[in-house]
Amino acid sequence: MNGKITRIISNLYTVKCGELVYGCRARGKFRNIGISPVVGDNVVIDPEENYILDVEPRRNELKRPVIANVDMCFIVTSTKKPDLDLVLLDKLLSIVIYNEITPVICFTKLDLLNEIELETIDNIKKYYEMIGIKCVYNSEKGLIKKLIENKTVVLAGQTGAGKSSLINSLDESLHIETNEISEALGRGKHTTRHVELYEIADGYIADTPGFSALDINEIGKEELKYTFPEFDKYDCRFRDCMHNKENDCGVKKAVEEKLILQSRYNNYLLFLEEVEK
Ligand code: ZN
Repeated sequence: MNGKITRIISNLYTVKCGELVYGCRARGKFRNIGISPVVGDNVVIDPEENYILDVEPRRNELKRPVIANVDMCFIVTSTKKPDLDLVLLDKLLSIVIYNEITPVICFTKLDLLNEIELETIDNIKKYYEMIGIKCVYNSEKGLIKKLIENKTVVLAGQTGAGKSSLINSLDESLHIETNEISEALGRGKHTTRHVELYEIADGYIADTPGFSALDINEIGKEELKYTFPEFDKYDCRFRDCMHNKENDCGVKKAVEEKLILQSRYNNYLLFLEEVEK
């Protein structure tokens, strides 16, 4: 029988097979071949003996939190309290794109903005949409649910951006207290965390923040530019142009002509310096 691991607590694996849920153990053979089943794994189980028999090949695997086969990452981005942080947004975008996961930017706390601030956010949203990144406001629940359908989703974003509120607003039967609430209350630091996948809107959402901002160092210096999809459109004199100090750089020209957002280019240079270290 085929299923998906949605939770692991010590050596007990919760496996969801359609409407049925099994508590399974892993066979010793996994230890011998150096595989340990993780949350998100698609597995074959023996429903009589409650054993995991096989783990299907993974599409990808995140290290923090440990979760396999992630399709999509919602980058939950506060527009006020905490203020909009374009450095963090672009950093998370690069990491998500590098991991071959579909990013979705979800802007939150728009109710705290005045008209001018709203217009600014709307223009920023339009820019990201123009370069091919899906964007939503957290109030667009129907749209968000549609995006989640049949996907395994992780959330990323700063503390207090509204990650738990987003999950809870999509399914009122859930009362998830994620890391961010525990952190805000100054507790939970010493408790053992486990990842759990929740079934929401015919998809799965992990209840724990998906990416740490530190992971930018996984990206190589040469690869960083490919995580900025809009750079691809412009031609440079040198094929291996880093869009930094080179002459006749199409990307730099596009920044001057305001075709590329200045903050995007500044953040690229900032990350370039970080990954070079
Ligand atoms: Zn260039």
